[in-house]
Amino acid sequence: MHYKEVKAILSPQNGMNLYRGCTHGCIYCDSRSKCYRMDHDFEDIEVKLHAPDILERTLKRKRTKGMIITGSMTDPYVPLEKELQMTRLCLNQIERFDFGITIQTKSDLILRDIEVLDKINRKTKCVVAITITTFDDALCKKLEPNVCPTSGRIKVLKELQKRGIPTIVWLTPILPYINDTEENITSIVDACAQAGVYGIMHSNMGMTLREGNREYFYEQLDKFFPGMKERYMQEYGDAYEVVSPNSQKLMQILQQRCENYGIIYDGEELFRYMREYKNKTIGEQLSIFDMIQEG
Ligand code: SF4
Repeated sequence: MHYKEVKAILSPQNGMNLYRGCTHGCIYCDSRSKCYRMDHDFEDIEVKLHAPDILERTLKRKRTKGMIITGSMTDPYVPLEKELQMTRLCLNQIERFDFGITIQTKSDLILRDIEVLDKINRKTKCVVAITITTFDDALCKKLEPNVCPTSGRIKVLKELQKRGIPTIVWLTPILPYINDTEENITSIVDACAQAGVYGIMHSNMGMTLREGNREYFYEQLDKFFPGMKERYMQEYGDAYEVVSPNSQKLMQILQQRCENYGIIYDGEELFRYMREYKNKTIGEQLSIFDMIQEG
């Protein structure tokens, strides 16, 4: 790892990435793509120096409260987080200044911070998004080798459910001929229902490939799925969007099961939900105010 001095920690839309690069090793990782212009090895994680202090100053100055969104480019719970605790320190600031958080991860390390997530959710809003691509732990170890397998992530969902913290599952990406089976989609949606998941994000049952992530993905296919690279090359060429030939059927299954369980699967609605800030203490403050007035 290496540190980098930065001036700002939040994007104009309140996006926050404390780390750049990742060691979870997902074979399909889009963050490896050349277009992101990373000037260091992907596994040599860049850590934003003094991020919690910069965040503290930024949140103190902000006039409008809102949701902070983290985890879209790099997992905030990379193993390095165990010792550095950057995510934890930033969550403490978010809680202190009454902001909300939407946090996306694949790691059960998030449970270490369940108390602060709970505190945020009691005051404002905390949404945890967990990526699940396959129900099969053995396949998961090939696709996402350095992070806890699906069974561990389902446990995380259930722990969050006990606290009443809303969760969203990112059922993405779906890799043609690898995890694009009906059984996989059915098992994941059923597990989501048992864990009281609020919504499931999907990407039309496909994945994206472009310069940088394609090369890495193909190397890993050669390692774990002999002959698969050739099949992809023949069928998809240089296409950016790579959609499962089973996509229609899989979408039908997803939609029907989600409707039966009352799980939201509309992407726009879920994005709105993740960005919509709520302050649950305002009612309480008003009633105290009312009591003073009445007194
Ligand atoms: S967790 Fe996300 S950023 Fe990390 S390797 Fe996997 S897909 Fe890439």
